[in-house]
Amino acid sequence: MNKPMANEPTFRESVDLMYNRAVALMDLPPGLEQKIRVCNATYTVRFGVRLRGQIQTFTGYRAVHSEHMEPVKGGIRFAMAVDQDEVEALAALMTYKCALVETPFGGSKGGLCVDPRLYDEQEMEMITRRFAYELIKRDLINPSQNVPAPDMGTGEREMAWIADQYARMNTTDINAKACVTGKPLNAGGISGRVEATGRGVQYALREFFRHPEDKAAAGLDGSLEGKRVIVQGLGNVGYHAAKFLHDEDGAIITGIIERDGALFNEAGLDVDAVRDWIVKHGGVSGYPDANHSAEGGKVLEEACDILIPAALEGVINLSNADNIKAKLIIEAANGPVTAGADEILRTKGTVIIPDMYANAGGVTVSYFEWVKNLSHIRFGRMQRRQEEARHQLVVNELERLDEAMGDAWNLSPSFKQRYLRGADELELVRSGLDDTMRIAYQSMREVWHGRTDVTDLRTAAYIVAIDRVAKSYRAKGL
Ligand code: NAD
Repeated sequence: MNKPMANEPTFRESVDLMYNRAVALMDLPPGLEQKIRVCNATYTVRFGVRLRGQIQTFTGYRAVHSEHMEPVKGGIRFAMAVDQDEVEALAALMTYKCALVETPFGGSKGGLCVDPRLYDEQEMEMITRRFAYELIKRDLINPSQNVPAPDMGTGEREMAWIADQYARMNTTDINAKACVTGKPLNAGGISGRVEATGRGVQYALREFFRHPEDKAAAGLDGSLEGKRVIVQGLGNVGYHAAKFLHDEDGAIITGIIERDGALFNEAGLDVDAVRDWIVKHGGVSGYPDANHSAEGGKVLEEACDILIPAALEGVINLSNADNIKAKLIIEAANGPVTAGADEILRTKGTVIIPDMYANAGGVTVSYFEWVKNLSHIRFGRMQRRQEEARHQLVVNELERLDEAMGDAWNLSPSFKQRYLRGADELELVRSGLDDTMRIAYQSMREVWHGRTDVTDLRTAAYIVAIDRVAKSYRAKGL
């Protein structure tokens, strides 16, 4: 694994350096610049859980970076590397991310030092509920103040436990379900949340490829079809991104990097087959239809068109940035490129679609889920059939025309069926996500191309986000 070099800033310092680069190009009052940068509060909790006959002590965190809008929002990560520096960096990124994609939230993040692979389901439930209890009783999980979501090592299962724990402790809160997002559908979740972050990566790339000037900046042309893609981390985000890019856009997934090494095949890997293999065998080792490299990190350096780091932070750093050959990097993970590597890559002309935009699909659909929970109704329930009835009127008229015109004009075969169907929740969610990703990209590229002193998308993203957070603080009188 490529760890950042000892002389590199920490993850949080890296985020601060990127922030500083952007504010140097802005005209913020110095006090406000500092106010936005700092993390408001980080709560550390140590608690014990009786497991296998003895008490085990766990350490968890919830950082609140900015409350310029509430609730604050950000995932909960279960991993051994979780520490205060990491959650604060991730919380800061959430503030900027929410501002960039215009979700009405401040930034937060949580984490628990635990390796979920070491515990069975019942044990994980006890650990998760106890952690949730500690956060709930301090309003660090609350529908109107702080709303977590899944992140590395957590998913629908953990979110359902957290929601249930909150409901048990707040029996009269009618909005209890909105205390956490990323829940399973039957526990108040929304269609399309599991795929959302990977789907957002796909929509981000589609939008990038709509702009010839942007493709040219990366030395790319054409469409996503046939583009060679390497993905690091075939978890929730990486799997969905790789699958959609392959199945729907014709990209070729040439490399998949996991904890235990990497698979490489110039002709393309079968994403679902690799995923099944990982689920069954715990890693990529032994997968038959590809070259296996025990040193997974080296595959980041293989030639490809698009590199998708979708595992963890700091994997592209001073030790390997010079060797990265990808033309375009889309940061599906948070913070995969250190500040030092960012500079090297920028100088080389590699285009980076930054994390705060690239993986914002998750928080966008979480926003839809939160709204759904507060409105207590599934999206599309009121209008779907009415929409179909109105379409039926048009179809009736067209069918009349079809009959009158004889062979001179006919309705295309599948038109009626496709046009008549009103949108269900999944389609509405995807449409809202697509719209969000397009608009946010356009706001970044306006700054990227519109200002001579901004030469990269990351700085542009920071400028757009910081400007919005600053406006919100100013409106509050700060
Ligand atoms: P996940 O736990 O589902 O998947 C992570 C994957 O990375 C796993 O397959 C794991 O085996 C692999 N991995 C772990 N360490 C690795 C290593 N050293 N080398 C290669 N692979 C490694 O997590 P996720 O939810 O997909 O999150 C991945 C990244 O995306 C994180 O940075 C997270 O913060 C970010 N993110 C996630 C969401 C979300 O909705 N889940 C939203 C925004 C951002």
